[in-house]
Amino acid sequence: MNTAIIAAAGSGSRMASDRPKQFLQLAGSPIILHTLKPFEECDSIHEMIVVLPAEESAGFLSMVGKFELRKLVKVVPGGTTRADSVKRGLMAVRPATADIVAVHDGVRPFVTVEEIEQTVAGARNMGAAILVAPAVDTIKEVNDETVVRTLDRKRLRHALTPQCFRYDILRRAYDNVDVNDPSLTDESFLVEKLGEPIAIIEGSLRNIKITTKLDLLLAETYLKAGF
Ligand code: C5P
Repeated sequence: MNTAIIAAAGSGSRMASDRPKQFLQLAGSPIILHTLKPFEECDSIHEMIVVLPAEESAGFLSMVGKFELRKLVKVVPGGTTRADSVKRGLMAVRPATADIVAVHDGVRPFVTVEEIEQTVAGARNMGAAILVAPAVDTIKEVNDETVVRTLDRKRLRHALTPQCFRYDILRRAYDNVDVNDPSLTDESFLVEKLGEPIAIIEGSLRNIKITTKLDLLLAETYLKAGF
């Protein structure tokens, strides 16, 4: 059984809106619904666990009742950090039937069915696989005030989601970590610490994380242009 954990328990403070960003409207429906759709349609995913702010669960369940989400099996209350939320989602996966776990940001609605399929297949082959996109800017390492060095752009990638893992690897990665550690910004980092190989699947920069108002404008433009 392959499970998608959708991390959607953030408060959206960087959006400066009164609603968490995953519930803002995009082309007439909440961003989180756009995000769930490709997972619902993807044959490689068998069930979905959505991690939400505790106070949003009831409203979410009544909202999704109108849509046919056959794979949605659980809604889990999130924690104070993304890592805390994902760990809570992971604890809700049934170990007896667990195979691949795909972790995805609730605010990345533009991932495609094909990208999910390829990343799940990568994890089946190697144990771990993440979706990435090319770095288009030149990236500098800096200290507080000055440039330290220039990194080789050809060898840099943006780490996107989904990030997919064999269940046992992700459980080991989350054992004994302090989920409040602010450096834990994705699951790959935890699995890297275990020394496990992680395959990269080349994805598209279109798979943006809607974080600011500018991202929301971009998302609306993508949809209007049918891009
Ligand atoms: O804050 P960040 O950009 O890392 O958020 C990425 C995803 O993690 C978002 O979909 C957000 O809702 C989710 N998140 C979460 N629990 C938190 C913080 C963020 O599920 N406490």
